[in-house]
Amino acid sequence: MLMVRCVGELQRVVRTHRSAGATVGLVPTMGFLHEGHLSLIRQANCECDVVVVSIFVNPTQFSDPNDLEAYPRDEARDVELASSAGAHIVFAPDPGEVYPEGFCTTVRIHGPITESLEGAVRGPAHFWGVATVVAKLFSMAQPDVAYFGQKDAQQCVVVRRLVADLDLPVRIEICPTIREPDGLAMSSRNVRLGRDERERALALRAGLAAVESAVEAGERAVDELERVGRAAFVPFGVEPEYFAGVDPMTLHPLSTIERSALFVTAAPVGPVRLLDNVVVAVAAGR
Ligand code: AMP
Repeated sequence: MLMVRCVGELQRVVRTHRSAGATVGLVPTMGFLHEGHLSLIRQANCECDVVVVSIFVNPTQFSDPNDLEAYPRDEARDVELASSAGAHIVFAPDPGEVYPEGFCTTVRIHGPITESLEGAVRGPAHFWGVATVVAKLFSMAQPDVAYFGQKDAQQCVVVRRLVADLDLPVRIEICPTIREPDGLAMSSRNVRLGRDERERALALRAGLAAVESAVEAGERAVDELERVGRAAFVPFGVEPEYFAGVDPMTLHPLSTIERSALFVTAAPVGPVRLLDNVVVAVAAGR
């Protein structure tokens, strides 16, 4: 496994592989790897000849400097885990390598996909930071395929939009959310939860599970499903920042489920904000 810190070196190494006919898969991460990240790396390893894992805590997507500071990091452990899951190259640049002096370009995606939900809470600049770093990583690693997790559903929609709008020659693969045995979606931030907070964190999964059960029982009205989902948070003493049923492709609010809906939620629990989502699909006419 090769460790790379410079953009120029990454581009040279990838070019050599590509000119030998190898396909390249990219797994962008902010490090502190867990099974969710490793599932993406394994998928990339199954489908591509060369797997690049980037580890970069991207400062431009953090609006709160304390959150950036507190983001957990353990590079040595990450390199070992990435390698054992099938990474061939770990790209771990310093912030100055990604944003050198004089850097002044931002990829701005407009409209509800960056302004609603997470964009409403954190501001659209969060997703502009994501879009900018993802566009740069694509340009640096020249991947055939890039792997993202459904866990960050809105980010997936933003990345698909970015690729479509800029005609980027990369295929986007979305991999399922990996959960702890009790249903909590894995996240690098979960280590910051205290014991009591870890229990309360199950509110998000409980809210989404309540929606799934209600849909299963025949409910199709999204405002009622949102009410049912929010009600399931109450016993945990957790208040969602948002709990919404939206179109999975456009993120537009839905009034009824015709075919499918994405239910997304975010909630602060102790020192962290947790995100989770579920896609519910119904058979036509049911
Ligand atoms: P992060 O390091 O949090 O920026 O995540 C890097 C990638 O891993 C993103 O595409 C995430 O959506 C994905 N990811 C994070 N957590 C999970 C999870 N529990 N299951 C599947 N993918 C995940």
